[in-house]
This record gives sequence, C-alpha cells and structure tokens, in this order.
Amino acid sequence: MPTLQQLVAPDDPMLRALRLGNHQFPGIWNHMMPREFLGLKLPDERRATCMNCPKSCYEDYRPDYRCCTYHPKVPSFLLGLASLTPSGEKVIQKLIDTSALLPEGMHHAPAQWVDYLDDLEHESFGKSQKVLCPNLEVETGYCMIHAFRNSVCSTFYCYKDHGDLGDAFWGHVQTLGSQLEMALGQWSLEAVGFDLLGYFKTFDRLARRMQDVSRPDGGWQKEALEQLWGSWAGRELELMRACASVIVEQKDNLWDIANSYQIKESKAFDKAMVKSVPKRLKDQVDPEDLDEEDAEAARPRELWLQLLKSYHKLWDLPEGYYHLNPRVVLSVNEQADASEKYYAANPFCLSFFTRKDGKTLDWRQFLTAPQKELLDLFRDEAHQLDWRFLMRDEIKKVPQLKEFLTEMLAQKVLIKRVYH
Ligand code: SF4
Ligand code: SF4
Repeated sequence: MPTLQQLVAPDDPMLRALRLGNHQFPGIWNHMMPREFLGLKLPDERRATCMNCPKSCYEDYRPDYRCCTYHPKVPSFLLGLASLTPSGEKVIQKLIDTSALLPEGMHHAPAQWVDYLDDLEHESFGKSQKVLCPNLEVETGYCMIHAFRNSVCSTFYCYKDHGDLGDAFWGHVQTLGSQLEMALGQWSLEAVGFDLLGYFKTFDRLARRMQDVSRPDGGWQKEALEQLWGSWAGRELELMRACASVIVEQKDNLWDIANSYQIKESKAFDKAMVKSVPKRLKDQVDPEDLDEEDAEAARPRELWLQLLKSYHKLWDLPEGYYHLNPRVVLSVNEQADASEKYYAANPFCLSFFTRKDGKTLDWRQFLTAPQKELLDLFRDEAHQLDWRFLMRDEIKKVPQLKEFLTEMLAQKVLIKRVYH
C-alpha cells in the first residue's frame, strides 16, 4: 500500500484550506461534502472578525483563546493529513503527550467534558481557565490545524449576518460535517484493519469504572489508553496516517461510503458519561446526549436535504410590505470608539435598540452610503420587495443588493407591516 506521503503531494489542495466566499474550510471538504455544497452562496459573516475578535475586543472573552475554550473531536484521518504539515505533526505529538489522543482521533476524556459543562454553567465559555484547546498556538492566535479542523470549529460564528436563519443554516452544515467525519473516521479505521468492534467493547467495559478513566489533570488514564489502543499502542501516528491514506485513495467515493456506513458507538459508555455528571451540572447536558437507546444516526443525504431547506430560507425575499423597524436608529459613524474606528470605511452606523425609543443598545453595524440610502427608503413608507422595487435606480448602487436585503430581513431591521 502506498504511503500517505506518496499519495499526497506537498502542494495538494487537501493540505490547504478550501476557500469558499469569505470562508475557509478543511481541504478535504472538496471531496467529503456533496459537490453542490461548493457552489452555495454562503453568508459572509462579516461580524465574526476572528483576528479582530469582537468578543474579546468589546466583551469579556480572553484575547488569546477567544472561542477556542473548547476540546474539539478531530477524527484520525484529519490528523493524519495534518501530520504532513510541520504544525500538524507537533499537534499530534502534543495530543499524545497530554493523553488526549484515541484511535478515533482527538477526543476529550469524561472529566474534560465535565469541565466544559462547568464552564457553561458559570457562563465561562470564552473565558475558561481550564478548557483550552491544545491546537491553538498562543503566540500567534492561529489554529495549528486550521486546514484540518473539525466541522464544529469550521462552522462556528459567534455572530451571524442572518441571525436565527444563519444560525439554523450553519447548524445544519455542522451536523452534516460531523456526521461525515464520524462515519468516515470509523470507516477508515476498519479499512486499515483496526478492530473497531473490540474498541467499543473496551468502552463498554470502561463504562463500569468511570472513576478510573480520566486523569485528575485532564486526558485519559494510561491504563484506559493502553486498552483502547490495543496492538496499535506506540504506533499512533502510523494509524492516523493509514486512516488518511484510505480516505485519500477513496476520495471520489467518500459521500457514498459515508451514506452506506453504519456508525458504531458504546451506548453503555455514553450513558455512564452522562451519569457521571455532577447533579449541579445536569441542566447543561445537551439533550442529544440523552438520546433514546435505539435512535439511529441520520444519513448524510437526509442531513443534506435539511441543509438545503435552511439554505433557501436564507436568501428568500418574502411577500408582503416591509418598513424600517422603529428600534433602528441610523446615524453618522463618528469614529469615536475602537469599533467605529475599525469600520472607518463605512460612514454610517445602524444601531438596534432593545425597544423603540429605548436607550439600551442591542447591537450595531456599520453601513456604506448606498446601504444607508436604501434603508432610508423604508423609513416613512413600506415597500414590497418585488421586481419593481429591485429595478429602482436609487438602489442599484448597493453592491450585493439581495444579500443585504435578506440580511436586513433576518436581523429584523426591516419588518413586515401589518395592515388591519
Ligand atoms: S468566531 Fe470566535 S474568534 Fe471569531 S469573532 Fe467570534 S468569538 Fe471571536
Ligand atoms: S481546533 Fe483550532 S479552531 Fe478548533 S478549538 Fe482548537 S484551536 Fe480553535
């Protein structure tokens, strides 16, 4: 069997982030996602400016980790691909050294999950002292496996241009990506001869002594790791690369493989994990972790159809008459504070208050002159967003007009006029 290095040339797009619109996804998404995904018009998500993170600049997230106060699950095949890059190799070694690597890939131990729930309980996400992703390079703030990160990391935006609709859309992308990663991760392990059934039986046994599974300082206990790795212990990198190799070899069949593969799990271990959560944190457990015994994972093709439904809602111009929400104030960008200065190229400011004539600001956004002129049209008059409106000369200057209108609708800047 050819080695991963023989299969993947240093300039292979799989080793680089895939750029779609404003976004960067893992290179493997070129092959793993349905072909049509690559042609979707994705929301820009201009508010989530990660390298000038609004959550740390204007709120209380820690500036070094920002939203990376989280332990993602990264499948082995992605880590195997990452291992062909200098920082990816470092990450794998660090995961081995900190006992955070399972045959399935990077995987938090039960105690680390409890720490995460504790952060949620204390609203410490983004501020955590204990749940910090080891893949972040603190000196630069960059993710060391950026082109190989998992679908949760790849689709997380703290603020969304399209509000709840955007939230639903990215949620569907994330679910589809996670399901594909899980199916392909497990399939690749079996394809290279790893005893996956035996692995989950080991988890079933570990479920009976949860107290021995996690280390007090985080990570998996040595003994648990030895049992889970079995004959692959000491050959972790070899396994990651072998998984990546079969994924690369089957890159044109990944969608069909994932759709026909039955994901496996240890229900006993998952149940024991939930049971091990202290009573005070039970409310933070995601209801999905309490799934019914025999609930079957949805197939990627079903998830794709759900994704498409939410995608169409993102860009739909609805019927009816729309006017400017009275909670909105349009003003000049005074360039007085840091945020106003950062958006100096946008001369106007849209402020959205919690109620009409209120003083409490909910959020704000900076506008170009044509965008402001467009919103001015809705101040005193309601308009139908039909072909006549789209043909008006004064709004033709707005770049990406439809995108801007749908964003304003989703953010409730433009609201439907109700006639009695
Ligand atoms: S997604 Fe994360 S890093 Fe990016 S702007 Fe939001 S909190 Fe900051
Ligand atoms: S894998 Fe990368 S993007 Fe994801 S939490 Fe870690 S550092 Fe952040």
